[in-house]
Amino acid sequence: MTNGLLSIKNLVKHFDISGGFLDQLFIEKGKVVRKQTTVKAVNNVSFTILAGETFSVVGESGCGKSTLARTVMGLYPPQSGEIRYRDERIDDLTPQQMLPYRSKMQMIFQDPYASLNPRMTVRQALEEPVVFHNRNIPRTAVKEKVAQVMAQVGLDPAWMGRYPHEFSGGQRQRISIARALAVDPEFIVADEPISALDVSIQAQILNLMMDAQDERGLTYMFITHDLSVVEHVSTRVAVMYLGTLCELAPAAELFESPRHPYTRALLSAIPNLGEKKPHIKLLGEIPTPIHLPPGCVFHGRCIHANDRCRAEIPELKPVASGTHIACHGAEEGRL
Ligand code: SF4
Repeated sequence: MTNGLLSIKNLVKHFDISGGFLDQLFIEKGKVVRKQTTVKAVNNVSFTILAGETFSVVGESGCGKSTLARTVMGLYPPQSGEIRYRDERIDDLTPQQMLPYRSKMQMIFQDPYASLNPRMTVRQALEEPVVFHNRNIPRTAVKEKVAQVMAQVGLDPAWMGRYPHEFSGGQRQRISIARALAVDPEFIVADEPISALDVSIQAQILNLMMDAQDERGLTYMFITHDLSVVEHVSTRVAVMYLGTLCELAPAAELFESPRHPYTRALLSAIPNLGEKKPHIKLLGEIPTPIHLPPGCVFHGRCIHANDRCRAEIPELKPVASGTHIACHGAEEGRL
């Protein structure tokens, strides 16, 4: 795609949680065997995020969406696969080589209190990234920049001498957003940016993020489990289940006619005061990412599963303009 800003290809991120050598030893049939335990958090995920769009990644807790976000940002090294930014490969760069991308790619975290240093004033917290990425910037220009981003996120610049604990949760998230904006990024990964906030201020923070996108031409990768939020802010939506993508579609299409059985079940669970839609119940429990099921990872919970689903991993394939799903049932016309 010509205007692809960030693309990932066959990205894999696993975590070895085996512990020490002795923790890995087990007795089986009278013999000592060594077993390693791996959490398969992200498995073979590919997509391209276009410049200027809001690309949302949704799924239940533990589906791997936050790990995916952190891997994209270089906070976790991937097991395999590629990450490209403006067509330059960035997953194999050294920290020094990554520096020019660090200011272009910023992250907003779920808990604004944990992501801010309690011993730093707002001014110090906002000055730090500005000075880090612009070593020769004059002091007056730094202070002006801090005042400017504070004003942009709706905080009075007169409060720059205050500490994080002197602010409400919503104001602290505004400070986190200001810290991300202070280095003039192009791409922001927002990992559950409103989940820790009161419902009454969630809309304010979302509006602030959307206004900043309009003013600065930002591209967002938005990570959330809250589908009612996704519908209003997203350009496209990727649905994740057990570390794999099951559906990727323009937001309007996804909410109008979800195609993957898991997406249908997720959407049917959104509380709706208007038209009453039947709630689709899923079979069983989510399997552990330590022991991924063979074939389609969703087969144990899907009423459409057949022998092929239990044996063969479905690929993400285009089914309509802009819509891709990974489902044998859809391909075979069984849904
Ligand atoms: Fe269900 Fe089979 Fe489609 Fe998986 S591939 S979602 S098990 S129909």
